[in-house]
Amino acid sequence: MSSMMPDVQEVLISSEEIESKVSEIGARVSEDYRGERPLLVGILRGAVVVMSDLMRNIDLPCEIDFMDISSYGTGTSSSGVVRILKDLEEDITGRHVLIVEDIIDTGLTLSYLLRSLLARKPASLEICALLSKPSRRRVELDVKYLGFEVPDEFVVGYGLDYAGAYRNLPDICVLKPEVFSGDEG
Ligand code: 5GP
Repeated sequence: MSSMMPDVQEVLISSEEIESKVSEIGARVSEDYRGERPLLVGILRGAVVVMSDLMRNIDLPCEIDFMDISSYGTGTSSSGVVRILKDLEEDITGRHVLIVEDIIDTGLTLSYLLRSLLARKPASLEICALLSKPSRRRVELDVKYLGFEVPDEFVVGYGLDYAGAYRNLPDICVLKPEVFSGDEG
């Protein structure tokens, strides 16, 4: 049992459920990209955990790269500001690119990113997101590979943080309200 559990109000999705879903997505990706060498693009830092598990469930020669984008501060609400903090190392022109994201909330971050990456003329560009909050969506997004839909609650664990912490929780959890007290966001 994690020493962080006293801060957790509820486990929304267990590590076992995540594991089986990620393996299912990996199998679909392996099937859909058969004969290709896809480039998985993880969005730092939240997608690091799902990226690490997903790539080991893909039975194809694939490559990975990462981008860092700012859309949130340390609070829990969107600032609406999207900036590329770290760009890709790889040239994606003519590549089959699969974006790997932890969670899609309003969709603003990914829609900005899609536009920016499409301008580089990849052979294809698809989205894989572990989580989605459909009730919060402000822009239409075509998410080809989705793990789970979650309610409009701030979740942590399996890569997702609150103020930098809780990324190493193995389950997707909701924190107790008192953990947020003092948060201006
Ligand atoms: P969007 O642009 O879709 O509103 O925001 C997406 C980003 O917001 C995610 O990549 C993630 O960094 C952050 N985010 C949105 N909802 C949550 C949440 O419930 N928990 C955490 N930890 N981050 C979230």
